[in-house]
Amino acid sequence: MEKFVLIGSGLAGGLLAAYLGRREHEVDLYERRADPREGNIVGGRSINLAISTRGIHALEQIGIAAEALEHAIPMRGRMIHEKSGALHFTPYDVDPKKCINSIGRAALNTTLIEAAQRYPNVHVHFNHKCTDVDLESATAHLETANGAVTAQGDAVIGVDGAFSAVRKSMQRDIANFQYDESYLAHGYKELTIPPGPNGTWKMEKNALHIWPRKSFMMIALPNPDGSFTCTLFWEFEGSRSFATTTTDDDVRRFFDEEFPDAVPLMPTLLDDFRDNPTGSLVTIRCAPWSYLDKVCLVGDAAHAVVPFYGQGMNAAFEDCVVLNECLQRYPENRERAFADYFECRKENADAIADLAIGNFIEMRDKTASRAFRAKKKLDHALEAVLPGIYLPLYTMVTFTRIPYAVAKHRARIQNAIVYGALGALAIAVVAVGIGLWRMLAR
Ligand SMILES: Cc1cc2nc3c(=O)[nH]c(=O)nc-3n(C[C@H](O)[C@H](O)[C@H](O)COP(=O)(O)OP(=O)(O)OC[C@H]3O[C@@H](n4cnc5c(N)ncnc54)[C@H](O)[C@@H]3O)c2cc1C
Repeated sequence: MEKFVLIGSGLAGGLLAAYLGRREHEVDLYERRADPREGNIVGGRSINLAISTRGIHALEQIGIAAEALEHAIPMRGRMIHEKSGALHFTPYDVDPKKCINSIGRAALNTTLIEAAQRYPNVHVHFNHKCTDVDLESATAHLETANGAVTAQGDAVIGVDGAFSAVRKSMQRDIANFQYDESYLAHGYKELTIPPGPNGTWKMEKNALHIWPRKSFMMIALPNPDGSFTCTLFWEFEGSRSFATTTTDDDVRRFFDEEFPDAVPLMPTLLDDFRDNPTGSLVTIRCAPWSYLDKVCLVGDAAHAVVPFYGQGMNAAFEDCVVLNECLQRYPENRERAFADYFECRKENADAIADLAIGNFIEMRDKTASRAFRAKKKLDHALEAVLPGIYLPLYTMVTFTRIPYAVAKHRARIQNAIVYGALGALAIAVVAVGIGLWRMLAR
């Protein structure tokens, strides 16, 4: 069987290794970090994530969805926190059973690696950092504590995240390789709301909490131990920003002003703010994602997106499903399989990248407004009266496997029809009103 060298045993790496292992390929998976089962693997990334239909489907395909979701917490909607302390809950869908799930990154990563290791033909090597890939010979060069080593396969797959070393080698060696990275002016910092007495949750457990404050926001996702992981998305620079908020007094004042209901729940706020890193948020687009039948990119390595639609991991998992299908379709022609995978995924990756940026504005600004809540109610009403015909964009992205690009296009058409019809209705009502008024005035 073919031998695959995978670089990166993050979320997509573990899953892809399991898919390839099941297909009886020889798989060597190299990860620069230590074995997550030996300690901290999170390394500054989000502690928990939202997994939804696409991600769950990918886990189901390999039979580990139930195991992975055992400790996940369903979130049925957004809980909006106003500055006044008022709360508004907006369900994600007209069907209350539809929810996204808060899942721990470390536990999910371990589940995926263990799923891959159930196949004796999958070998995982931790503490191996890829420094370079020779595309022609499908050879990865790796650094270890004991010196440099090489790993050659029939193909090298870069599942090594947004700052992929495999992609860098492609950038260097493929003529006209297209690459675009764009950073948001906002960074993020993770903070904690610890559990209440006896591991209870101090806020509504089954919701994604949002403190929308127009140009910035904080969110919180629940964890199984009763805690919440909060993430503050805030400008790096500016008169009120990460750059200017440096002392404990500055931090306390900012939180007291903006998130007064959260402050009493965050006893370690000042330590968390000081000690936790400030992460950056990047969108990466590149093309092509493969080189002949030798090298291929999957997940964030191919298309990092900002986290505001909660789809980066879900999209990375969907990549694994599609790549597996393409390899199955062309068992004798890996080059064709890689090319078809790119063809199928690229426009969808671009679509979710755009949608994710758009959703940042929706989350931090619009969710606070009455108009947003009214729009969601209208969406849900239309979905209920036109089942299967009208699907809100959020529903298509989160609760279906409709390709992202199709969802984006369909939402645009739906909006044009619905708002066109509402506009026409409004004009008709005004015209009838004026007519009646004239009749009565005669
Ligand atoms: C704040 C935040 C919140 C998020 N929330 C969500 C969410 O709610 N839902 C969602 O779906 N997505 C979310 N995401 C996105 C999600 O984290 C990523 O899309 C997902 O982790 C991508 O998986 P991956 O396997 O491609 O990359 P990663 O998970 O980054 O894994 C890459 C792996 O490669 C390893 N590696 C890197 N370089 C090398 C090298 N040179 N040699 C060897 N190994 C290497 C890394 O150590 C890592 O283990 C969020 C992201 C952020 C930053």
